[in-house]
Amino acid sequence: MAKKSVIDLLNDARARELTAITQYMEQHYELEDQDFGKLAGEMKKIAIEEMKHAEALAERILFLNGTPTSKPDAQIKKGQSIEQMLKTNLALEAAAIKMYNAAANACAAAGDQISKQLFETLLGEEEAHWDFFDNTASHVAKLGAAYLATLT
Ligand code: FE
Ligand code: FE
Repeated sequence: MAKKSVIDLLNDARARELTAITQYMEQHYELEDQDFGKLAGEMKKIAIEEMKHAEALAERILFLNGTPTSKPDAQIKKGQSIEQMLKTNLALEAAAIKMYNAAANACAAAGDQISKQLFETLLGEEEAHWDFFDNTASHVAKLGAAYLATLT
């Protein structure tokens, strides 16, 4: 596989990250506004981690003489309930995990170990995000309002 294909994979990932950043920032502001300060703080932290991912991808793209995209790959959702937000986020993270696993393999096949390692590093963090959203969603499902009250 040519260098161009690796750059395309890195840019696809960057577009995914840009979607996640704007989605989690939106949720952070909405949750803050609804006085769910604790969950808002978690969303802010994860949004910042996604920003670091977008930057790491851009650095690698620039190193390979590509142009980092500035376009998110999807529209973000607004005005969702906490349950809906968590569903949205689980889908975003699951898509990233699938995409980055495939990209790591493709980079290895292309002989680009550094891009492969970058995708593996991101993968570990996306799995941690998925896990956080999954745990939160299952607590909300089991405990309902009592658990939501702990997120304020
Ligand atoms: Fe990410
Ligand atoms: Fe993530």
